[in-house]
Amino acid sequence: MIKISKVNIQQDDIDRLVEVIESGNLVHGKYCNLFQEKLGSYLSVDHSILVSSGTAALYLSLLALDIGPEHAVLVPNFTFPATVNVVKLVGATPVLVDVDATTYSMTSESLARAIKSYQGDQSLKAVIPVHEFGFPSDMINICQVAHRHDLYVVEDAACALGATIGDKKAGTYGDIGCFSFHPRKVITTGEGGLVVTSDQRLAERIELLKNHGIQRDDGRVDFAIPGHNFRLTDFQAALGVGQLERLDGWIASRTQLATKYHQLLQPLVERGSIYLPDLTRGHTWQTYMILLSEDFNRDLVIKRLRSLNVETNIGAQCISSIVHMQEYSQTQDLTVSRRLGKSGLALPMCEAYSEETLTSVVHNLTLVLDGFGA
Ligand SMILES: *Cc1c(COP(=O)(O)O)cnc(C)c1O
Repeated sequence: MIKISKVNIQQDDIDRLVEVIESGNLVHGKYCNLFQEKLGSYLSVDHSILVSSGTAALYLSLLALDIGPEHAVLVPNFTFPATVNVVKLVGATPVLVDVDATTYSMTSESLARAIKSYQGDQSLKAVIPVHEFGFPSDMINICQVAHRHDLYVVEDAACALGATIGDKKAGTYGDIGCFSFHPRKVITTGEGGLVVTSDQRLAERIELLKNHGIQRDDGRVDFAIPGHNFRLTDFQAALGVGQLERLDGWIASRTQLATKYHQLLQPLVERGSIYLPDLTRGHTWQTYMILLSEDFNRDLVIKRLRSLNVETNIGAQCISSIVHMQEYSQTQDLTVSRRLGKSGLALPMCEAYSEETLTSVVHNLTLVLDGFGA
C-alpha cells in the first residue's frame, strides 16, 4: 500500500527519546527548552511557546485575546475542523469565508467580501487565516484588510511550519501564529503544537493559560489565573529537535515531488478530468490535493484507488457541510469551498517517496478515472 504519508523518525530522534525516558525528567526537561528555542530562532520570533497540540495553540490564542460570546471570528470554510471548533468552544460565532480554487486558502478579497456581507449581532473581532496544506497565504494583504477592520489576526499555520512569504515565515505575520506537530504534519512529536507572537503581554498570558496559571517569582509559586494544562512532554520535544534540522531539506524534496506530480498529471488535466493546485513558491506541500471534475464520484475514486493499494483522502473538510456548523453558512457565498469539499482528492506525499512512487500513483489514478468512462 502506498500510504498518504509516512512518519519520518530517524535513529537520533529515538536516541534522544530514550535518553529522556531514562533520565526520569519527563515533563520539564532540557528538550522542551531546546526545541522551543530552536523553533523561535528558525521562525525569527520573540516568543515561542510549546503546547500539547495545534488545537491547544489555537484555543489558547483566542483565550489570550479575550474572545468570547459577544464576538464573531472569520474562518475559512475549507480547513481541518479544529480551526472552527475553537471559535465555538470560546463561545464566539464563526463567520465562514470562501477560499481560492487553486490555493485552497482564504484570500484578502474573499475576506473583504465576507466582512462586507456580515450582518450578525456579534462584533467581528478576529480572523483565522489558514495556510491550507502549507500554502503560504497572502498575509500582507490579509493583514491589511484585517487592520482596516480592527481585527486580530491568528494564523493557523498547523501545516505550514517552514512556509515562506516574502522574507518571513508563515505564522509570523499575525498577532499570533499557531503550529502543529501531529504525525500528519511535515515534522512530528506525536501530538504537539506551538504558539508564536512578538507581543510580550500575549506571550505571558498564553504561558499562564497553558500551565495552571502558575507564575514563578523568586522561587515562590503563585496561581495568578485559572489555567489549563496544555504542556508538551520532554520526550515529545526530544523527537522534534532533530526533525527541525531536517525540515528545510524535506520541504525541498516535497517541492520537487509536487513539480513531478504536475508533469505526470498533465494528461489528466488536458482531458478535463482534474484540476491542479497552484505551484506557489514557499509552499511546504504538507498535502498535495487535486480537484476532480464533477463527472467523478470522489468517494468511489478513493475506494477504487484503495483496492489498487493507493491510499488517498478528502484533504480537508468543507465546514458548512458539518451538521453542527450548518447554521453559520446562511449568508455567505461559499461556492468554491463547497466544491473542494465535494471533489478534493489528496494524493500520497512524503519527502521519503521516490518519483517512481508518484508515477505508480498517477498510473493507478488514470486507470480508476478511465474506468468511470467505461
Ligand atoms: C492539523 C491541523 C490542526 C490541528 O492540529 P492538532 O495538532 O492535530 O490539534 C488545526 N488546523 C489545521 C489547518 C490543521 O491542519
